[in-house]
Amino acid sequence: MSTAQATSSRLLRTGDEYLRSLRDGRQVFIDGERVKDVTAHPAFREAARSIARLYDIAADPANRELMTFASPKTGAPVLRAYQIPKTHADLKARRLFHEKWAEATFGLMGRTPDHVAGFFCGYAGAPEIFAGGGQKFADNVVKFYERMRDEHLYVSYAIVPPQIDRSKPAHKQSDPALYAGVVKERDDGIVISGAQQLATGGPLSDWLQLACIHPLQPGDENYANAVCVPIDAPGLKLYPRRPFALGARNSFDNPLSSRFDESDAYVVFDNVFVPWENVFIYRNPEISRDQWWKTPSHLLGNHQAQCRYVTKLRFMVGLAQRMNEMTGNVAAPPVQVMMGELAALVSIYEALLHSHEATATIVNGVLWPHRTTLYSAMAMQSELNGRMLEMIRELAGGAFITLPSSLADLESPQTAPDMERYMRSASTDAKGRVALMRLMWDFIGSEFGSRHQQYEKFYGGASFLVKMNVNRYFDWKRATGLVDQALKLPAVEN
Ligand SMILES: Cc1cc2nc3c(=O)[nH]c(=O)nc-3n(C[C@H](O)[C@H](O)[C@H](O)COP(=O)(O)OP(=O)(O)OC[C@H]3O[C@@H](n4cnc5c(N)ncnc54)[C@H](O)[C@@H]3O)c2cc1C
Repeated sequence: MSTAQATSSRLLRTGDEYLRSLRDGRQVFIDGERVKDVTAHPAFREAARSIARLYDIAADPANRELMTFASPKTGAPVLRAYQIPKTHADLKARRLFHEKWAEATFGLMGRTPDHVAGFFCGYAGAPEIFAGGGQKFADNVVKFYERMRDEHLYVSYAIVPPQIDRSKPAHKQSDPALYAGVVKERDDGIVISGAQQLATGGPLSDWLQLACIHPLQPGDENYANAVCVPIDAPGLKLYPRRPFALGARNSFDNPLSSRFDESDAYVVFDNVFVPWENVFIYRNPEISRDQWWKTPSHLLGNHQAQCRYVTKLRFMVGLAQRMNEMTGNVAAPPVQVMMGELAALVSIYEALLHSHEATATIVNGVLWPHRTTLYSAMAMQSELNGRMLEMIRELAGGAFITLPSSLADLESPQTAPDMERYMRSASTDAKGRVALMRLMWDFIGSEFGSRHQQYEKFYGGASFLVKMNVNRYFDWKRATGLVDQALKLPAVEN
C-alpha cells in the first residue's frame, strides 16, 4: 500500500496525496463486481474528495495552530486528532479540530479519520491494559498509534460481530470461521478469517481495525483479538451497502448524497495474515473488554462523535429556520414555540459537549472526558434525534414534496417560466427555494437521510447498552445519600 507512507514525515498529508494513496489493491465490491479505483467510481469518488478536502484544511498553513501540534517523536506538525489530552486545554483543542472538520461536511460524515484516531489516543494513553497480555502488545499498540499520528493515517474500524445468529456465542456458530477470529498462529503473526460489521468509511480509509466490543463468552478466545490491517491486505474484502451516491442525479437535486455518502461496509477476512507488530490483543477476552472501558479510548472516540453530532444539529436547525423564513412562517407563534423546543434540545447537546470537557478528569496523566455526561448524550440521542426530525417534518408540511421533478424543470424553456412564477417563495426565487428544499429532503427524507437516522441510533451501539453504561457510572451514591438523609430527618410536631 502506498498511503501516507510515501509522504515525508515532515509534511502534512494533502488531499491529492490522500486520493493517490487510495489507488491500491483494495478489494471493494459493488453489484457483484470489484471496484477498480474508488477515487474514480461514482459510488465513492465524491465522498473521497470530501475526505481529501479535510486533509487540505488540516494542511493549510493558515490552520496550523488550530489543526496541528508538534509530534513528540519527530517535531513535525501532526493532526490534533492524535493529541493525547493531558489538560483541559488539550481536550478543547481536540474539540476545535473536530468541529472544523465536521463543519466541512456539515456533520454528515461520521467516521472521518479523527474518529478512530481518538480510540488509538485512548489506547496509547493507557498501554498498561494491553501489557496484561504481554509487554509486546502494549509496545505494538503505542507504535501503531505513533505511526498513525506521524503518517496521518486514516483508520476505519469493525468492532461488532455479525448478526448471523445472536442466540449463540461466536464459537458455537455453525462454522467456527463465520465470525472474524484467528484461524492460525504462525511464528511471524496470525491469520484471521470470518466476517465483522460495519466499517463505515472502510472503502475510503488506509487501514482497518478489527476488534470486538461485544461481550465474549468462555470459549470465544479466538475472537478476542485486536489488530490493524491495511485495506489492501490480501484476503480482506469490503462489501459496502448500496451506495446512495449512485442514485444521485446531480449535486443540485441530491446535494448531500452526491457528496457525503461515506459508505458502510461489511467486512470479510479470507485468511488475512497479520504480522505480530500489528496485533494488540491476542486471544484475551478480558483485555478485549478492558480496551474500551479501562482506557479512555471509547470516551475520546465518542467525544469526536459528539463534536460531529452537535455540528450536524446546528446545521439541522439552521435548515429549519431558513425554511420558516422562506415560507413566511418564521414569526408565527406556534412555529416559534417549536423552533424554541428544537433550539433547546440542540443547546442541551451543546452544553453536554462542553460538560464532557469541563468535568473531564485526569487518570494516570491523561484527561478522560466525563463518562456520565458523554454516555447520557449518546443514550438519549437514539430517541431525541428522531424526535427532532419529526418536528421538522411537522414544520415542513408539503414543502419537501411540492417541488419540480428535477433541475431540468427549472432550466427547460418549456417549464422554466411556470417554475419561476410559482415555485418562488417569500424570500427567494424559484431556484433558491428548490435548492433549500432539496437540501432538506436529502437531510431528512432521502435514503441518505434515512440511513443517517439509523446511524445516530446505532453508531455507538444499541441504546440499551449505552443506557446500561450511564447506569454503571452515574453517581448513585450521591443520589441515594439524599434519600437516606431524608429518611433520617428528625421528627417534627404535627
Ligand atoms: C449506519 C451505521 C454505521 C455504523 N458504523 C460502524 C462502524 O464504523 N464500525 C463499527 O464497528 N460499527 C458501526 N456501527 C455499529 C454496529 O455495527 C452495530 O450496528 C451497533 O453496535 C448495534 O449492534 P447491532 O447492529 O448488532 O444491533 P443489536 O445490538 O443486536 O441491537 C439491535 C436491537 O436488538 C435488541 N436487542 C439486542 N440485544 C438485546 C438485549 N440483550 N437486550 C435488549 N434488547 C436487545 C434491541 O432492541 C436493539 O436495539 C454502525 C451502525 C450503523 C447503523
